[in-house]
Amino acid sequence: MSEWAHVLINLIMKRFIADLHIHSCLSPCAELDMTPRRIIDTAVARGIDIIAISDHNSAENLETTMRIAQNKDITVLPAMEITSYEEAHILALFSSVEHAATMQDIVYGSLPKGVNDERYTGYQLIVNEADEIITFNKRLLINATSLSIKDLVDAIHSMGGLAVAGHIDREIFSVISQLGFISDDMAFDALEISCNTEKSRAEAVFKEYARFPWITSSDAHNLQDIGRRTTAFFLEEASFDEIARAFKGDGKIEW
Ligand SMILES: [Zn+2]
Ligand SMILES: [Zn+2]
Repeated sequence: MSEWAHVLINLIMKRFIADLHIHSCLSPCAELDMTPRRIIDTAVARGIDIIAISDHNSAENLETTMRIAQNKDITVLPAMEITSYEEAHILALFSSVEHAATMQDIVYGSLPKGVNDERYTGYQLIVNEADEIITFNKRLLINATSLSIKDLVDAIHSMGGLAVAGHIDREIFSVISQLGFISDDMAFDALEISCNTEKSRAEAVFKEYARFPWITSSDAHNLQDIGRRTTAFFLEEASFDEIARAFKGDGKIEW
């Protein structure tokens, strides 16, 4: 790309701060005050432009979150953090709640049968725009699905979604912790580094995966942690399509 093309891109593109991995009170391990309204208010107050709500194996708080965000200066991407058969966490980002709901049907069909025992795992709250509890999700959301990493990536892509290997630097629940490596046939759109690892260290440890775009996110389970790590995207606008373009190399990603 010529120098002028770079100058042009910098003129057209705006810098958006994104935290694409946040758990709501639907995740059993998240705090109960992680309601969609409070997440949105906190993210807006911290100057975050784009967030993704990525609950474990469920998408049932997305609609409420998207509605609350409609009149606010923030973009919410529908997402889920899905646990594969190998016990790796895969972040799935979608262009619409409908696609996330379709993925949720697949995930629900592949979770073990049984009832969540709140005493051990925590409550799984589905809430409305006023922070009131609509119902408790009783599924075993914290468990692994019966879908392989490859099955999940393929299913996410079949819905036009983006598949991100979650927190690859973590010693549990990451593709690398579970398999030891990311194989060539795993068609991830991006890799995520957790807030535990600085970029320079990640670049040294994971240099063999430089072919992927990398992001970092908060993986917030409480309000305090929202935005503790963010990724800057240089995009024409804050949208799923623009993030997808950036992952394909058409746009700058910084953290
Ligand atoms: Zn995770
Ligand atoms: Zn997470």
